[in-house]
Amino acid sequence: MREVFSTLEADQDLSHANTMALPSLAEYLWRARNERDVGQGLQLANERGWDLTVLGGGSNLLLPRRIGGLTLCADIDEIAFSSGAGDAVHVEVGAGVGWHSLVEACVERELWGIENLALIPGRVGAAPIQNIGAYGVEIADVLDWVELVDRRDGKSHRLDREACELGYRDSIFKRELANQVVITRLGLTLSSRPRPRLDYGALSQHVGVSGSAREVFAAVCAIRREKLPDPSDLPNTGSFFKNPLVSGSQASRLLSEFPAMPHYPQADGRVKLAAGWLIDQCGLKGYRQGAFGVHDRQALVLVHFGGGVLAELLAFAGRIVDAVHARFAVTLEREPRCVGER
Ligand SMILES: Cc1cc2nc3c(=O)[nH]c(=O)nc-3n(C[C@H](O)[C@H](O)[C@H](O)COP(=O)(O)OP(=O)(O)OC[C@H]3O[C@@H](n4cnc5c(N)ncnc54)[C@H](O)[C@@H]3O)c2cc1C
Repeated sequence: MREVFSTLEADQDLSHANTMALPSLAEYLWRARNERDVGQGLQLANERGWDLTVLGGGSNLLLPRRIGGLTLCADIDEIAFSSGAGDAVHVEVGAGVGWHSLVEACVERELWGIENLALIPGRVGAAPIQNIGAYGVEIADVLDWVELVDRRDGKSHRLDREACELGYRDSIFKRELANQVVITRLGLTLSSRPRPRLDYGALSQHVGVSGSAREVFAAVCAIRREKLPDPSDLPNTGSFFKNPLVSGSQASRLLSEFPAMPHYPQADGRVKLAAGWLIDQCGLKGYRQGAFGVHDRQALVLVHFGGGVLAELLAFAGRIVDAVHARFAVTLEREPRCVGER
């Protein structure tokens, strides 16, 4: 039992472990360096009947003042590359590796597939949870499998991509498997042959003549730095709301009233709207109340000026949801989850 308790820490301050900088204390924190450690942490939580919170980089999770039970970090920090058939290169990576460090390591090897996902904060283990995406690429495009330890049987399992049920900012880990599993490793397949994806937004205008993976990476970093506040300067969780999907008929009604409204028809007939535009049209860009505000350059990002708590943030976000609903009859959904929430 002594060994089991060797990495268990009580009353750990997590205010610097979440990018919204919300004040939070973990009742117990467990840092797991490998799969065995993860299994031990889960066993302990089961024996004590503790709630489980899995924490990565805290860039898409909203923390309450106190998190009861066990907060577990999967600090598995390994990357291995191996050649596959043809141009394929397989990457096996531990959940604790920083996502941007992984992108950098792949780009340094001139591997293609995740260069558009540069500068997304957080760790590898969280990447499949909401199927991270940016600039026309999602992790679903390169993911082969996810390894995890399941709280219910304490065993390691490997799920292939189909079993992960990846969708827009969604996966099985947000639904049936929410708060049940700890992701420990991912398998990705990248390509050594150039496969630039420059069709999204202004990316192609920023990429130079050589068009190498490093150049695409640098262009994505430059655009993101210009557009998004750095959480270490101004705490935030990136996009606070998902881009809403509405029916084709609702989109047509809205377009007749707001012809300039950005809209993106989807394969299933629905239409994706730009949540940032809707918020901006309500005159809320730069709006501040107390400790929280809407960023003055990117209306999709809520920022924390300091001294606020989760309840105030949720009340602030609720006012934005109400304003958008009153003007457009569209309901915005929050992207980051609160601890314990599905
Ligand atoms: C400035 C900024 C920009 C962003 N830009 C983007 C973007 O372009 N595209 C995008 O998709 N996202 C973006 N995000 C959101 C965020 O970076 C991603 O969702 C990221 O994958 C979260 O990683 P994390 O390690 O911080 O996860 P956390 O916030 O710690 O956790 C997120 C969720 O995953 C769960 N989780 C974490 N690790 C594990 C694990 N090992 N096993 C099981 N469950 C786990 C948590 O319980 C939680 O439910 C942005 C965030 C910020 C702050």
